[in-house]
Amino acid sequence: LFVVLEGGEGVGKTTQWNRLASALRAVGHEVVAVREPGGTQAGDAIRTLLLDPTSSLSPGTEALLFAASRAQLVADVVEPALARGAVVLVDRFLLSTYAYQGAGRGLPLDMLSSVNRLATGGRAPDLTLLLNVPLDLAMARVQARGAADRMELEDAAFHVRVQAAFVAALSSTWQQAHPEIGPVIAVPAQGDIDTVTVRCLEALVQRWPA
Ligand code: C5P
Ligand code: MG
Repeated sequence: LFVVLEGGEGVGKTTQWNRLASALRAVGHEVVAVREPGGTQAGDAIRTLLLDPTSSLSPGTEALLFAASRAQLVADVVEPALARGAVVLVDRFLLSTYAYQGAGRGLPLDMLSSVNRLATGGRAPDLTLLLNVPLDLAMARVQARGAADRMELEDAAFHVRVQAAFVAALSSTWQQAHPEIGPVIAVPAQGDIDTVTVRCLEALVQRWPA
């Protein structure tokens, strides 16, 4: 099973990713939990470059670096893990590229899609859980934790576009037009952490009963 956690900054993706991995391991699954960008040696080097505000990357460079990190991750980690029957749990995947490099930076989706076909080899997630928190609350959380990554360089309009792109991906018409993303479902991610974890697990059980 290939499961992806998506959403903007401050929605609690990484927290839930950790908790879901533990919960699935506790019931006996092998879980390979990785994050994007990163998850391989090359990918982690690319992550450092991407998150460094002094890199001053052009939108095209940024998109290609995300795709490069993804290509290495799919080849070295995702495919081997899926082949041996593990659950692969990824913090961000292709939908983040459509949201950030597409809606955020304005790169055409068809180009991002082609480049990423090379990166994923056509592998699509079995399920994406889109953690949903009102944008003002998510931004307040990011400020509170003092995150000093690239998001601080972006204006509010950028985050509004990114959020709108995530929400658009919830429609079934959009999903039919983008089979490379696979099914996406919303998980309300306000409220306490345990409740959100339970909602995520319920979504997994609903998709894969027993
Ligand atoms: O996953 P995380 O929230 O740690 O993301 C790190 C940073 O990378 C964030 O600032 C996010 O805005 C950015 N990002 C991006 N494009 C992607 C994925 C993440 O700009 N495709
Ligand atoms: Mg995170």
